[in-house]
Amino acid sequence: MSEPMTILWLRRDLRLADHPALIAAAEDARASGGKLLPIFIWEPGVMAGRRASSNRTWYLRESLRELSQELEARGSTLMELQGPATSALPALIEHLASNGVAPAKISLFFTRDHTPYARARDRAVAELLTPRGVSVHATRGLTVVEPDELLTGGGTAYGVYTPYFRRWLERVALNTESPLKAPTKLPSPPSLTLPGSLQSDAAAIDRAAQPTAKVALLPVPGENAARAVAERWITAARGNGANGYAARRNTLADEDGTSRLSAALHLGLLSPRELVSRLLPLPPEREGERSGERLWVSQIAWRDFYTQVLWHAPHAARSSWKPAYDAIEWDERDEPFNAWREGRTGYPIVDAAMRQLHETGFMHNRARMITASFLTKDLLVDWRKGEEHFLQHLVDGDVAANNGGWQWSAGSGTDAQPYFRIFNPVTQAGNFDPDGAYVRRWIPELAALMAPAIHAPWAHAAALAAAGITLGVHYPEPIVDHAQARARTLEAYARAVKALPAPRGE
Ligand SMILES: Cc1cc2nc3c(=O)[nH]c(=O)nc-3n(C[C@H](O)[C@H](O)[C@H](O)COP(=O)(O)OP(=O)(O)OC[C@H]3O[C@@H](n4cnc5c(N)ncnc54)[C@H](O)[C@@H]3O)c2cc1C
Repeated sequence: MSEPMTILWLRRDLRLADHPALIAAAEDARASGGKLLPIFIWEPGVMAGRRASSNRTWYLRESLRELSQELEARGSTLMELQGPATSALPALIEHLASNGVAPAKISLFFTRDHTPYARARDRAVAELLTPRGVSVHATRGLTVVEPDELLTGGGTAYGVYTPYFRRWLERVALNTESPLKAPTKLPSPPSLTLPGSLQSDAAAIDRAAQPTAKVALLPVPGENAARAVAERWITAARGNGANGYAARRNTLADEDGTSRLSAALHLGLLSPRELVSRLLPLPPEREGERSGERLWVSQIAWRDFYTQVLWHAPHAARSSWKPAYDAIEWDERDEPFNAWREGRTGYPIVDAAMRQLHETGFMHNRARMITASFLTKDLLVDWRKGEEHFLQHLVDGDVAANNGGWQWSAGSGTDAQPYFRIFNPVTQAGNFDPDGAYVRRWIPELAALMAPAIHAPWAHAAALAAAGITLGVHYPEPIVDHAQARARTLEAYARAVKALPAPRGE
């Protein structure tokens, strides 16, 4: 074997359609008359560790299985390697060299990933391989707009969403390129046997991919299923009426009110750029009217927004985006966090959401906001604990979107909810689960209660007695009194935020 070799390193772009790195790699292999070797590397952090999720790993493994079949149908094959990439890739290059492929004849293609971890890894890989003669190529593909494409007039990163979205829409409108078609045929792969030390460990992957959620309630894996959901959704997202996205997206019990495409977008089973292009041009904005397609496209822009936030401010992955908020004295006791995590706070809307997370690996966006607010503002628990717990369960767990959502809720992030605006969980429940259907679905022990009692059972003794429910026996008493908790939090935040240096010019 001495032909040139093009390696396509697949990561969070597990699809065939609108895949710039795949198309570029296939063209490179054809142009050089060489082989195309698609690979996936199982990184240790995906298999184990505090931010790993067996639900997500299951979805990943199953999606890879489908992709592998689709590649074979096109004359290619997927090779799975054991990470970390910084040792697997140099070892693969060595192995190819010992099989007669000089590193100078090897090129490596991948889709740019923007998380702090991925950037450091990709930099390290390029520093290891480039001096050996391998040519390394990174393409766009994870987001609609790359994180370094948009800056404010002052040349700084956007920290506020609304002006970002305006510029984002302008940028998107400028792009008239059609999405790239899925290839029907790919250059052939090399015939190569990997040494045992490089081969992925199927038994270890299977152990890491035992979902804690119910498989029947997890999203169907793979690009084909994601595409089928997207096709239905593109039609559903249009329109402004009572059945449209704008009207339904905040109803907690409405399982079809939002697209449920987040896990597919996280793994890149679908191209966000392609989905957005399908909804363009957006209908003109009219006073008092919220079009479903504009609103949905704006959610995809939130995904890009948080990606660029972390890209420009990688410190926010581990600490507050606004540093003064790191001075908050959090409640370090185990019990409040455990009660939240286990869905036994005594606030039905919070407990229902936590149970939805555990049983399905998904939580409705409004419920994510309610539970994140409750943990940080009612229980005064550090947002990082909640962030990590979400990552351990969410199939769509995404470092940038999750961090952005948590810091928004805690008040420490960009464009944040001001810390003094604290969600009242009972009011939220009344607004977004008016008939109690969401709580009834996830907390069957309260199913006999009607709204409003189902949202604040402690305040409805007669309804409890009629339903035969005793608090503390059948369902917990509330862990905190919301009004008292709110006062404590306001004090703790005010103490920390006082430490803020005065903004310049004031
Ligand atoms: C505390 C908290 C944690 C979150 N963690 C994650 C996470 O780990 N992964 C994740 O994908 N989303 C996260 N979100 C955002 C949002 O809740 C989910 O994207 C959404 O619930 C997914 O459901 P959907 O696909 O039906 O959304 P839709 O309403 O159909 O939205 C379409 C797509 O837009 C993107 N999106 C929507 N809202 C947001 C948002 N606020 N920020 C970034 N992207 C968004 C998602 O890719 C989503 O699939 C979080 C939000 C909060 C408040």
